[in-house]
Amino acid sequence: MKSYMVAIVGAGPAGYFAAQALQNLASDELSFSIDMIERLPTPWGLVRSGVAPDHPKIKTVSKVFEKIATAEGFRLFANLELGSDLTIEQLKERYDAVVIATGSARGKKLGIPGEDLPGSLSAATFVPWYNAHPDFKDEQIDLSSQTAVVIGAGNVAMDVARMLALEPSELDPTDTADHAIEALKKSAIRNVIISARRGPEHAAFTSPELRELPKLEHTNVIMHPEDIAAAIVRAGDEIEKDTKSNLDAMTLIAESDATSHERTMTFQFLATPIEIKGDGKVEEVVFQHTGGDEVFSIKCGLVITAIGYEAASLEGIPYERGKVVNTDGYVSDNLYVVGWAKRGPSGVIGTNKSDAADVMKLLVSQLGEPKSAGDITEIITHNKVVTQLHWQQINAAEVAAGEPLGKPRKKAVSREELLNLGAL
Ligand SMILES: Cc1cc2nc3c(=O)[nH]c(=O)nc-3n(C[C@H](O)[C@H](O)[C@H](O)COP(=O)(O)OP(=O)(O)OC[C@H]3O[C@@H](n4cnc5c(N)ncnc54)[C@H](O)[C@@H]3O)c2cc1C
Repeated sequence: MKSYMVAIVGAGPAGYFAAQALQNLASDELSFSIDMIERLPTPWGLVRSGVAPDHPKIKTVSKVFEKIATAEGFRLFANLELGSDLTIEQLKERYDAVVIATGSARGKKLGIPGEDLPGSLSAATFVPWYNAHPDFKDEQIDLSSQTAVVIGAGNVAMDVARMLALEPSELDPTDTADHAIEALKKSAIRNVIISARRGPEHAAFTSPELRELPKLEHTNVIMHPEDIAAAIVRAGDEIEKDTKSNLDAMTLIAESDATSHERTMTFQFLATPIEIKGDGKVEEVVFQHTGGDEVFSIKCGLVITAIGYEAASLEGIPYERGKVVNTDGYVSDNLYVVGWAKRGPSGVIGTNKSDAADVMKLLVSQLGEPKSAGDITEIITHNKVVTQLHWQQINAAEVAAGEPLGKPRKKAVSREELLNLGAL
């Protein structure tokens, strides 16, 4: 029997699916001890801090994560950060293999004048703010204007627009951060415009998310029929299945009966943002018709860009264009990468499962003799490490606090609060 030690850095979907793949590859001749390292006091990555709170079913994948985490040979070391608490070299020396699963959390920028004005921010700030990520709890989001513009044409842009355009009491039975529900209840925003650079046929929204929009009970959703009709013509007959499904869903929205709610979400296509203007804060966004000369602007007090994510570089790991440099998940020496850190910000949660399984097969095929060179417990520098048992305590306390309020959980927000729940 050969027994290997593998460190996985990052407790998001990709990290858990990598662990699961190793557990599945274990046999009578081969076993793995898996140590998962996470910078936050809580695991689950974007399943906790990304997925929209009004989509609770998607978060039930966390049950799978907990099953993986409670299998023999798995240990969680949360509240420990690669880069500040330990180095990649320290891990590479001690473990037979190290898997980077740190995601990509930094919002890409438009690179246009005015982008840094107050009132202009990235979904990479807004989303973790409403999802109770400890690093974003103090963000001040200005919701005092009538109109907000969301720039992007993917599901993150749609989540952001929905969160701004929902009747906020609909968030009461969700795990949205209390501070965000409170702020959204005071919000003056009534018009949310989602603006896409290209046409509907190129939008990266997925059709289940589009199909849900006409069901919103307190929000008018507007797509202009002429935009969709023109896209159908441009897409032609040899259209891909997903594009067809999207355009069908958009046609349904465009043809829905008009509603007269107080809040409206409008889709705008073929508009390239060229400047954000304002005196000390956002006052308008200037657009150019994509592929044309026409310039127009929209007055607004809030602009949120959702145009993709990139990974921040960690010392000792090679990066290129916001991703870890890799060949099919192999980086160098005994180092591997999975998930968004490997592929960039694309794919749903499940995409990380097949991807991590392929990388773990490669990892196992490249293992030498087990090196038995120690583990992370030798390099931990503080006594506030959140283990699986601590996390189970935090998790149970959040769920219990949510129960009387009809929420799946009431999230603790600050690191101190989270550590207290874990009796640390
Ligand atoms: C706003 C948003 C909404 C989404 N909604 C959906 C949805 O509804 N359905 C769906 O299928 N997919 C959705 N996705 C996609 C899905 O979340 C991703 O596919 C998935 O989370 C990527 O997994 P990951 O493990 O690579 O990254 P992440 O989930 O980002 O996990 C990375 C983990 O690594 C940790 N980490 C980072 N740096 C360090 C470090 N230095 N040391 C230790 N730990 C570190 C992070 O704290 C985090 O926990 C959404 C994504 C976003 C951004």
